[in-house]
Amino acid sequence: MSVAPFQNQPPIEWGKTENKERLYKSLKYVKAESGREYPLLIGGEEILTENKISSHNPASHNEVIGYVSQAGRDHIETAISAARSAYNTWSSTTFQERASYLFKTAEIMKRRKTEMIAWQIYEAGKNWAEADGEMDEAIDFLEMYGREAMSLDQGQNLVSVPGIENCLEYRPLGVGSIISPWNFPIAIVTGMTVSALVTGNTVLLKPASLTPVIAAKFVEIMQEADVPDGVINFVPGASGDIGDYMVEHQDINFVSFTGSKEAGLHIDEIAHKRIPGQRWIKRVVAEMGGKNGIVVDESADLDAAAAEIITSAFGYQGQKCSAGSRAIIHESVYDEMVKKIIERADTLQVGPGSENNEIGPVIDEKAFKKINHYIEIGKGEGTLVFGGTSDDTHGYYITPAVFKDVPAASRIMKEEIFGPVLAICKVADVEEGIQVYNDTEFGLTGSLFTKSRDHMIYARREMDCGNLFLNGKCTGALVGVQPFGGYYMSGTGSKTGCLDYLLNFVQAKTIAENL
Ligand code: GLU
Repeated sequence: MSVAPFQNQPPIEWGKTENKERLYKSLKYVKAESGREYPLLIGGEEILTENKISSHNPASHNEVIGYVSQAGRDHIETAISAARSAYNTWSSTTFQERASYLFKTAEIMKRRKTEMIAWQIYEAGKNWAEADGEMDEAIDFLEMYGREAMSLDQGQNLVSVPGIENCLEYRPLGVGSIISPWNFPIAIVTGMTVSALVTGNTVLLKPASLTPVIAAKFVEIMQEADVPDGVINFVPGASGDIGDYMVEHQDINFVSFTGSKEAGLHIDEIAHKRIPGQRWIKRVVAEMGGKNGIVVDESADLDAAAAEIITSAFGYQGQKCSAGSRAIIHESVYDEMVKKIIERADTLQVGPGSENNEIGPVIDEKAFKKINHYIEIGKGEGTLVFGGTSDDTHGYYITPAVFKDVPAASRIMKEEIFGPVLAICKVADVEEGIQVYNDTEFGLTGSLFTKSRDHMIYARREMDCGNLFLNGKCTGALVGVQPFGGYYMSGTGSKTGCLDYLLNFVQAKTIAENL
């Protein structure tokens, strides 16, 4: 099979009337489709259960997006058996064959793009650009992992020795549990699932309970692409009921998780508890949190820095593990930068994503309360200079909060808030700035704004993060362009969006034939 070289999907031009009209039509369609029921999918069989998750629009309390059946432990048992029996056939197909399903899925996603954008706007509270970016990322994952997987059919080039024919083959791991987050309900669900599938594994997918309808749509798309029964088993449900169960289970070979640090560490711990009779050590791939920051030195382009600080801190209401929730600024440009940041924050409109406001609702009541709690903590640690007010009359709205003069050791400089809260801290030089940047338990994304080549070289060496951006925002890493993933408490260090990621889901076998 020959395929065109990989290219990232281009963003939709919302200035064009036909694109806007297409979205309005999709928004109307999704509104009309809201409130439907969605089944589990196990071994190709759709199962409706009594116990359902009701998913709500975070912008409008009374709006139900859908009712999604929840799996119990019996369903997990059946799903593991279904995945195990599908594994026998699926694992013996070639990487090329499996890649063709990804390419087909990508085509369906392109066709259903504005519909899927509309689902995200209503279920996840995204605005147009955030939802579009996410769809592009989902399609990019399919196109990238499909292409990279095709190269794995060849194994690896080995040293040749006369008289022996050697080769190295990549074999799948088995049956995996995929536990995905709500903040990128289509991109990350897609990336996590298809990376495991294209490498020959079969999976159980437990999506986040806050965005299960989008996950159900993803599974519907995979069915439309004719992925064989049992290869992907859809088992939404509460973590307390089935989450631990599908991690600890002795017939699970690997777990792929994206979410909070606390949940990731818990999964890592219980997955590695030895079960008598289990013949393998479970592999855990976890992407967790971040407390990312942007350092600005005395030579930086201040307007560019202010613009990207705003985008990094407040894009999707700061609900990204990559969000830049700290601005660490040189004292000589500090006052000017604070002024520029406030001016820009003041231009952001707060309101529903369906009307394309820059700042939509936060995901639910729990997040709303947690973020407000951190805003109260911030008031005792620094000076609130902008926003921080909230209104949950119709949806969970919080105006972006900007705190200045926040000491480096304070909680809002160290703890992940996952909301629209920016802490600004003053430093005497770039060395101190990077030291403050590094002083968290995480190591995901970071930026430095500078015109100094020496400072760039220093940051490359000293800033402890998986994704460093020089003179750019610290969010929105592109598939294949900036493979994504961090250090320390940010995760197990794997990089999404490139060949390396696929190697998490295979084991290598060398075969030596003496001629
Ligand atoms: N990959 C996303 C970005 O670069 C963040 C993913 C996440 O929040 O989990 O912004």
